Amino acid sequence: MSVKIIAEDCVACGVCIDACPFPGAIEVNDVAVLTDKCNGCGACADSCPTEAIVVEKKEDKNAVNAADYQGVWVFIEQRDGLIANVALELLSEGRKLADKLGTHLAGVLLGDGVTELSKHCFAYGADKVYLVEGAVFKYYRTDSYTEAICNLIRQYKPEILLFGATNNGRDFAARIAVRVDTGLTADCTELAIDQESKLLLQTRPAFGGNVMATILCPNRRPQMATVRPKVMKKLEPDYSRSGQLIRYDSPVREEDVSTKILEVVEHATKTLNLAEAEIIVSGGRGIGAPENYYLIEQLAEVLGGAAGASRAAVDAGWVPHYRQVGQTGKTVAPKLYIACGISGAIQHLAGMQTSDVIVAINKDPEAPIFKVATYGIVGDLQKVLPLLTKKFKELKEA
Ligand SMILES: Cc1cc2nc3c(=O)[nH]c(=O)nc-3n(C[C@H](O)[C@H](O)[C@H](O)COP(=O)(O)OP(=O)(O)OC[C@H]3O[C@@H](n4cnc5c(N)ncnc54)[C@H](O)[C@@H]3O)c2cc1C
Repeated sequence: MSVKIIAEDCVACGVCIDACPFPGAIEVNDVAVLTDKCNGCGACADSCPTEAIVVEKKEDKNAVNAADYQGVWVFIEQRDGLIANVALELLSEGRKLADKLGTHLAGVLLGDGVTELSKHCFAYGADKVYLVEGAVFKYYRTDSYTEAICNLIRQYKPEILLFGATNNGRDFAARIAVRVDTGLTADCTELAIDQESKLLLQTRPAFGGNVMATILCPNRRPQMATVRPKVMKKLEPDYSRSGQLIRYDSPVREEDVSTKILEVVEHATKTLNLAEAEIIVSGGRGIGAPENYYLIEQLAEVLGGAAGASRAAVDAGWVPHYRQVGQTGKTVAPKLYIACGISGAIQHLAGMQTSDVIVAINKDPEAPIFKVATYGIVGDLQKVLPLLTKKFKELKEA
């Protein structure tokens, strides 16, 4: 969009300055003038009482014919023959979107010897599965997966393509969007279809979680979005469903791929999987020092859960970033979340408040975390945590 001010209609009232979200983007002397801080959002135009501000839509020369693109696709992330939960969550969500559009839902499955997994895709709502198999796809690698999916998009033209915002999804979704010349909305928390335009409404938090922005991709296809694990609800699978399996013979060969997998370190992947954990014990600044994090780890271990952290604990260098829960960390929704020495800032809550049961341990009875907690323990975590760990150990042994 481009914004123009018609000088002869401007009465220099300054109303546009109040309407503009970008300080310094408009200066008013005899008439209003746009500065280089203007990003052309057009928020000023509606406010102008003399209609002296005009917003002109720029023609998108690379716009595609949307009618050529059909179907909702979900990338089926799998590792060692196990589908990531987020892919099943996205199939469940994709089913609703496809029904609203009156189109089909497809899973896009890459791997080596993974044909069997297509039955899970059908059970979670897919009508079709695009299957790309071969030794070159055994492990996720940016080059091979990007190339194969771009080829599929060019051939079959989906209107929507969804990815889990996992390490892999984040790694290659943006790359695919650039290659096929479309947009990507990362970390959506809500997806819907606009009744009139049939466009995908991609909603995600913006400006530190203070605003929810709904983003559209009107001229390019596919409309692409990533969604974090546990944001969408997984439907009950129906294994009586079946669908169409479309094998795609990808031209990608091993010699085209610049990275080689030398070794897969299993241990690291097992201990870090916060997003999939059913029980999480997290520690915040209230743990006081890095050496006290073992209290969190001990309770997590006895409960068979994972250990998480707030950003304050991560920023202090006490806990590695991969354990961070929240807006700029992982989104989790375990059965049980135990927040220890965490105040309950909105950015932390954004990543855990849909947990089934929340237990908060905090020495400040006024801490905001208690507002979202199912159960609260007011006390010093250094005393409470060893007692809880001891009790759960006893129960487990009994
Ligand atoms: C853009 C942006 C993104 C952000 N993203 C995230 C994010 O992803 N995740 C996140 O967590 N934060 C995030 N934050 C930071 C967030 O705003 C808070 O600063 C942070 O969550 C605070 O962490 P905390 O609760 O551990 O620390 P504090 O707010 O300092 O709270 C510590 C709590 O510990 C309690 N306490 C102290 N000692 C004890 C004790 N001995 N026993 C029991 N309780 C005790 C205190 O009463 C207090 O409530 C983000 C901020 C911004 C601006």
